Amino acid sequence: MLEVLGLASLDELIDQAVPTAIRLKRSLKLGAGQSEAGLLAALKQIASQNQVFRSYIGMGYHHCITPPVIQRNILENPGWYTQYTPYQPEISQGRLEALLNFQTMVMDLTGMEIANASMLDEGTAAAEAMTLSYGQHKGEANIFWVSAACHPQTIDVVRTRARPLGIEVVIGDHRTFEFDQPIFGALLQYPATDGAIYDYQDFIDRAHSAGALVTVAADLLSLTLLKPPGEFGADIVVGNTQRFGVSLGYGGPHAAFFATKEAYKRQLPGRLVGVSKDAFGRPALRLALQTREQHIRRDKATSNICTAQVLLAIMASMYAVYHGPTGLKRIADRIHTLTATLATGLKQQGYTLGSEPYFDTLRVEVGDRQTEILERAKTNQINLRAIGTAAIGIALDETTTEPDLTDLLQIFSTSATSCKGESQFAPTSPLPTSHSSPLPPHSSLLRTSPYLTHPVFNIYHSETELLRYIHRLQTKDLSLTTAMIPLGSCTMKLNATSEMLPVTWPEFAQIHPFAPLEQTRGYQVLFQQLEDWLAEITGFDAISLQPNAGSQGEYAGLLVIRQYHADRGESHRNICLIPESAHGTNPASAVMAGMKVVAVACDADGNIDIADLKAKAEKHQDNLAALMVTYPSTHGVFEEGILEICQIVHDHGGQVYMDGANMNAQVGLCRPADFGADVCHLNLHKTFCIPHGGGGPGMGPIGVKSHLAPFLPGHAVISPTPLSSEQANGNSPLPDSPTGAISAAPWGSSSILPISWMYIALMGASGLTKATQVAILNANYIARRLEGHYPVLYKGKNGLVAHECIIDLRQFKKSVGIEAEDVAKRLIDYGFHPPTMSWPVAGTVMVEPTESESKQELDRFCEAMIAIREEIREIESGQVDPKNNLLKHAPHSASSLLTDSWDRPYSRERAAYPTQWTRENKFWAAVDRIDNAYGDRNLVCSCLPMDAYE
Ligand SMILES: *Cc1c(COP(=O)(O)O)cnc(C)c1O
Repeated sequence: MLEVLGLASLDELIDQAVPTAIRLKRSLKLGAGQSEAGLLAALKQIASQNQVFRSYIGMGYHHCITPPVIQRNILENPGWYTQYTPYQPEISQGRLEALLNFQTMVMDLTGMEIANASMLDEGTAAAEAMTLSYGQHKGEANIFWVSAACHPQTIDVVRTRARPLGIEVVIGDHRTFEFDQPIFGALLQYPATDGAIYDYQDFIDRAHSAGALVTVAADLLSLTLLKPPGEFGADIVVGNTQRFGVSLGYGGPHAAFFATKEAYKRQLPGRLVGVSKDAFGRPALRLALQTREQHIRRDKATSNICTAQVLLAIMASMYAVYHGPTGLKRIADRIHTLTATLATGLKQQGYTLGSEPYFDTLRVEVGDRQTEILERAKTNQINLRAIGTAAIGIALDETTTEPDLTDLLQIFSTSATSCKGESQFAPTSPLPTSHSSPLPPHSSLLRTSPYLTHPVFNIYHSETELLRYIHRLQTKDLSLTTAMIPLGSCTMKLNATSEMLPVTWPEFAQIHPFAPLEQTRGYQVLFQQLEDWLAEITGFDAISLQPNAGSQGEYAGLLVIRQYHADRGESHRNICLIPESAHGTNPASAVMAGMKVVAVACDADGNIDIADLKAKAEKHQDNLAALMVTYPSTHGVFEEGILEICQIVHDHGGQVYMDGANMNAQVGLCRPADFGADVCHLNLHKTFCIPHGGGGPGMGPIGVKSHLAPFLPGHAVISPTPLSSEQANGNSPLPDSPTGAISAAPWGSSSILPISWMYIALMGASGLTKATQVAILNANYIARRLEGHYPVLYKGKNGLVAHECIIDLRQFKKSVGIEAEDVAKRLIDYGFHPPTMSWPVAGTVMVEPTESESKQELDRFCEAMIAIREEIREIESGQVDPKNNLLKHAPHSASSLLTDSWDRPYSRERAAYPTQWTRENKFWAAVDRIDNAYGDRNLVCSCLPMDAYE
């Protein structure tokens, strides 16, 4: 490959591709790479320092049972977890169907008209509900009223989001609020955080009269028994689907949901799957409306969400498919009955319950016995929730058994003597057999409406059927198990199996996010090591692992910059310079952080136009907050001017935010902090091997220089910064972060961090550097091989690209009407996932091979691209009709080719088997080209009746 490039060594390639001025002059201080087996053993040692307690803490997180058929065939299956976001719907029909099921499940259970798929967590979903309500409000009100009965982490995230937008958050009691302040929206929790179920009808009616929208944060499982919020007037319903078969994972990843009224469909954050039709009129799914790539609307986007927990949403939807309406209700009934039994037992012991009626969570008034009871619980490896200083919360779940109840009653029993050292109580007295029903049978709080009536929730209840359904959907989707996914900027690299194994270890998976820190020492060791390594790789002084995606890292980083300016008495600094070529999440995040976006031009080579940058930095110097810059640039080039660019921003009082999505081109070669960035996010699901999961999970930790460290995100329940022993023991208050929480869990999606830990430890310093070198080699090899066939846009000084290259297809539109989309769809016939389309330059494709692909695979891809060029040439030469040809009709599904009549001017054989390898391993698109516009005009976002497919 080096020969093709006319180079003698990898080092020579890197010397020519990466500007000398920014090169790291030493190797990373990370030690040598290690073996898979050895590291798994070492990680097991770390994991064993976590203590897996039974947690009845609740607060939106519950133990649950992941049906093994879902665990093995989705969560642990690369056919699902290595998929990309479904932007190419013809090869994504499987996950789109699962996501449509998710939306239908959420709509049915909440009683709402439309639901998205999906959100990062409940806290951010509630915050997005606040901004939607704010946007809809016609009056002057800027108060968002939040019930004190909401989960504290939700309140924390909402507060963080409100501050930069000038929204005032008022916390209160819905029973006493007089609507004497002008509010634009309100947030309620159902059931409340302490378990109480309130009738919110009156409050909602009054809120509506006051012109406010009401959001209800609801527990999805409880809605199988309780009247859904849509039936008592909620405008928005948010929540988490974690307990639908997704492990606690010490905070994540889990999929949250957002459901609302049809009227707000265009303001919906995140993504929405809708039904459309393909070229033959058959139903076909795709991302609908603005949500296809919502953030491409830049500062006009309704949210910055890109990566959004797809794999976890799919798991939750399959949990509902498996159990069906009857099964879900049975689970909820059983939990509720156990809770009622526990309540009866506690009352018999003389306790007062502070929450009735309830579903699965009790608030027990314990007076001055709180510490004693909590300690007794811990001795028995049980976590309960301290509420205030005189109450304890107990939330039961799907895994709770009768012996668990016996243990709980023993812990609360006044007669029990100290039982240190015992892991389990002997059941001394039988459980109470009768209980007063806390949910009276005719209560207005009970659910009477049906849900999950669609066949999909009623026919896959046996493992045999579900296994085949999961597999059937999987085979419709192209993942890394089929071929390379050459998506520029997305870094679809290998997600090694040994990196994935620890995710489902119970020591990582079965831990409640608010478990006491002394039980999570293993996680603390893992976090600390990962933070140290990421700091060494980027050059930064401090890392926050809280953001759940790159977009969240951007938002967190900009908030940190905002706080820094405010701390220096410069809170007027609110101008954010963003190059025109930036990823759409950049401007969307800046707006959320309360900043004003000023675009900076790019020059003809795709680099930041330094003269324009200078002019704008000068013009706005009094109010300059930050520059957001991607490096290497979104055009895939190591810009020579990066040092000067950072200097210009600093000279004018701004901070440099670096979008680290392209870090795969930097690791071991250069470091953002060394050449001028003050803060940077890392997409762990790109550079550091967390799989994309079909559009999430992800992690977007940020690194900052020391002057920004005091402003890193905090958390209202558990502090994510290292604590003194006094703080860790709860004897002194947690450190205060002026920024607040940006995720519901203190370390975001903790349970997938072992993936990045494994990757870095496996590779070691030299392995990571070599990977970067090979990623750059692979991109340059592709660029060189395709050069004679297509123009390759944007190169650095020595004619080299960085880790990706842009292939120009615009000339074909002019000459023969062939568009980038036609080439992309034809690549599907050749068995490849199309590259990134029309970004950052319309009419082009951007190819990023990563270091994981072999020369054979790169050659196969190049041969496909070259063969497609020949197909275009046949149109150019007049041999082939420009409207009726292999490209315009691509992709070709089996059912469109295997027909008795065929009237197209090319052979079916050529359509399906353009190369030898397609004969050996044909990946069939499940549908033909999808009509996006039709689906937007006729929006359908829930499961279709079965006969629609006939
Ligand atoms: C992927 C990407 C993002 C967004 O990251 P998510 O993790 O998807 O939120 C931002 N900027 C660039 C350049 C990207 O490629």
